[in-house]
Amino acid sequence: MQIKIVFRATGLVCVLALGAFAQTRAGVTVGPLTVQPGGRASGMIQVSSGKDEATTIPISVIHGAKAGPTLALVAGNHGYEYTPIIALQRLLPRLDPKQMSGTLLLVHVANMPSFLKRTIYYSPVDGKNLNRVYPGKADGTVSERIAYQITKEIIERADYVLDIHCGDGNESLRPYSYWDVKAGGKEVVEKSRQLALAFGLDRIVMDSERPSDPAQSVYCSTTATTRGKPAITIESGGLGVTDDESITRIERGVMSVMRLLKMIEGQPQMVEHPMFIDRSDVLRSDETGIFYPLVEKGHTVAKGTLMGYVTDFFGKRIYELRAPFAGEVLYILGTPPVSKGEPLAMVGHVAESDR
Ligand SMILES: [Zn+2]
Repeated sequence: MQIKIVFRATGLVCVLALGAFAQTRAGVTVGPLTVQPGGRASGMIQVSSGKDEATTIPISVIHGAKAGPTLALVAGNHGYEYTPIIALQRLLPRLDPKQMSGTLLLVHVANMPSFLKRTIYYSPVDGKNLNRVYPGKADGTVSERIAYQITKEIIERADYVLDIHCGDGNESLRPYSYWDVKAGGKEVVEKSRQLALAFGLDRIVMDSERPSDPAQSVYCSTTATTRGKPAITIESGGLGVTDDESITRIERGVMSVMRLLKMIEGQPQMVEHPMFIDRSDVLRSDETGIFYPLVEKGHTVAKGTLMGYVTDFFGKRIYELRAPFAGEVLYILGTPPVSKGEPLAMVGHVAESDR
């Protein structure tokens, strides 16, 4: 017979299993879900109404039969970024909790208002970019309340976090990852580097400008690193397309990271020849109008290359986008509308030497 003692302390639910067949591994509770070792469950985290409307965050928990780390996968911080969302749909049935070590937390669609209303960058409810308001606020607007729930229920319970994106609905993007080379200190930085290499994308943007204050972490992945948890941001896909190649790349990357963390059998497929991008710039428009790209994602540009231009609404050229340094086009807008101050493209310079 099993006797279960459940007690709540400081918001954490601890489950002790005692008896003749005492389990050494406890169940896990995340949001509305309590899952025993070897089990899985899916459900909704409720984000209650506040200053504005309520919403929900669909999550799944796969709690491996054996002990191991907790890995969180977050899709849909930007609601028009579909490849991560579909990749998680595909991954869920592939993973067998009975064979798995550790725990996988899946956030299927972080930004439900943006997903359902098909908005890029900003929430249709509060106009905020969810991936700029972490760690969120319990009493904030809906984006801030979503970020708060993801921080509290997912990131704070995880040991490792993969924040998975692609180019937004307007962005034509070649695959790459962001590796935060500062936040969290040496050990977190090195483990994050291992995550990036295991994920398998050979372009790795070395990001040194992310915040270091956990209370002002701004980004989803920085919310993890500033809390001492290795994390990276992934980019694969874009333009609102659900192409198999971009989705498969994410699935493969997640499986490889799970192998690195010894959550599933097998060896991770580490990037053999990583191209670390030591300088990168998001190039923004000085004007509002219609954008005409002249280069494509993945193209190499020289310093000064004309990458595209903006016209006014009558066709007069009013802004030229030129490469600020030699590098590779990581993404470029693939649709015409642009507002002053918004990104037109991102260029990255590959470091000379391997690290
Ligand atoms: Zn994104």
